[in-house]
Amino acid sequence: MATNRTFTMLKPDAVEKGHIGAILEKISAAGFRIVAMKLTQMTQNDAETFYAIHKERPFFGELVTYMTRGPIVAAILEKENAVEDFRTLIGATNPADAAEGTIRKLYAASIGENAVHGSDSDQNAAIEGAFHFSGREMF
Ligand code: UDP
Ligand code: MG
Repeated sequence: MATNRTFTMLKPDAVEKGHIGAILEKISAAGFRIVAMKLTQMTQNDAETFYAIHKERPFFGELVTYMTRGPIVAAILEKENAVEDFRTLIGATNPADAAEGTIRKLYAASIGENAVHGSDSDQNAAIEGAFHFSGREMF
């Protein structure tokens, strides 16, 4: 994947609350092009694999339960400086620390249920995008 791409998930809390449209509007208004997108639900194995880097953390079990409890929107986004600019758009992991106007400030309930995922590096964007999409699903 080119380095001008990032990967995102609108997490189960955001989907449950009906925030898909509002969040996609913010993403679009910030200049990201949608390269791939789908509504899907992660299995326990999917979530354990996707978040394997956190498996020793105390919140891992809760994180897997949360991420598998309902559908998510998975998407690959394209923009110059995509990874960094998308992390800025979503705000800090804990919505209490997130800047005004960020997606997490607007839509996240807590550090656990924080509405949206954004890749933290170009390398992880490529790995995470490929986890959810095959080449022929990317436009
Ligand atoms: N998380 C949590 N408790 C914490 C830290 C993180 O439940 O103390 C969850 C939260 O959903 C977060 C995800 O685990 O988005 C991954 O954590 P990370 O530190 O990678 O945050 P992110 O990159 O999503 O900002
Ligand atoms: Mg992270």
